[in-house]
Amino acid sequence: MKYKITIVGSGPAGLAAAIYTSRAEIDTTIFAGVEPGGQLIRTTEVENYPGVMGKTGPELMLTMTEQAQKFGAKIEYDTVSDLEKLRNEYDAVILAMGASPRLMGVGEERYWGKGFSTCAVCDGAFYKGKKVYVVGGGDSAIEDAVALTKFASQITVLVRGNEFRAGKIMQKRIVDHTDKIEVMWGTNLVGIEGKRVETLLVTQGQSDTVIRLEADGLFFAIGHIPATGFLRANDNPSLRVNLDENGYILVGNGEWPTMTSVEGVFAGGDCVDHRYRQAATAVGMGVQTALDCERWLNQRE
Ligand code: NAP
Repeated sequence: MKYKITIVGSGPAGLAAAIYTSRAEIDTTIFAGVEPGGQLIRTTEVENYPGVMGKTGPELMLTMTEQAQKFGAKIEYDTVSDLEKLRNEYDAVILAMGASPRLMGVGEERYWGKGFSTCAVCDGAFYKGKKVYVVGGGDSAIEDAVALTKFASQITVLVRGNEFRAGKIMQKRIVDHTDKIEVMWGTNLVGIEGKRVETLLVTQGQSDTVIRLEADGLFFAIGHIPATGFLRANDNPSLRVNLDENGYILVGNGEWPTMTSVEGVFAGGDCVDHRYRQAATAVGMGVQTALDCERWLNQRE
């Protein structure tokens, strides 16, 4: 093996890249990060990944991990905070850190594990027979609300606007559960009270009047932010990876569509893509980074 590549992130993009680079006989090390397997680890059955039926998210990610390891990729269960160190130790770097759940800053962080969660699939079972709220109006919010019907007695979805952003197919799923799921439109969560989540403070429409809602649980499904914070912390100007205003990595450097503004540093998956954000698209982007990276290494020779 002539070259050494490191991949930051072990979601679909990172593992797909690792399968390609290790199979191309490039020494590959994956830094698995805080959530090995990425967001699919929090999913139940994966219904929209072509060619895969009847598998859960964790099962799919385990298969991808084993596939990468079969070709020799090594996994470090560690996070990365220093791009300069990586750039010095490896011939090329692939960034595939993904994204993490968005928070609102209404005091929710005090309630992690005390009635607040961003993962209905992981934590829903704690709310058997309980009254819970889901904040958000996208596909995730509906998916979470429907997942919670297995456990909770009542689920109220708090949507800040007057329509769902979720696709029509997902919206239809709510109709099958109107006995348990209710929607409050034009509603903003402004505070939480209780030793654990007990009362939600909300306002509606343009009114400042605060309404109090009794709650046993609160789930956020309001989108994600890319896990690119450590790139901003870097002081070396020659290693400054350009990001957009929301922190997503900008790619496209000369003839290399997946190279970042830093030579030899490539990026793909949800830390680049705020539009599609699917496991299948992340896999495609991961493969692109691997192919570009391999060609770039060969060309450099
Ligand atoms: P999303 O599509 O970005 O939707 C975020 C939702 O949260 C929107 O309704 C948004 O409201 C709301 N929101 C954002 N910030 C908020 C705030 N501060 N307070 C209150 N509400 C706030 O995110 P997502 O639902 O996580 O979906 C992400 C991607 O994954 C999408 O492409 C989606 O299609 C995909 N996905 C697909 C499936 C599936 O097909 N099974 C399941 C889950 C996700 P506004 O609409 O007012 O902006």
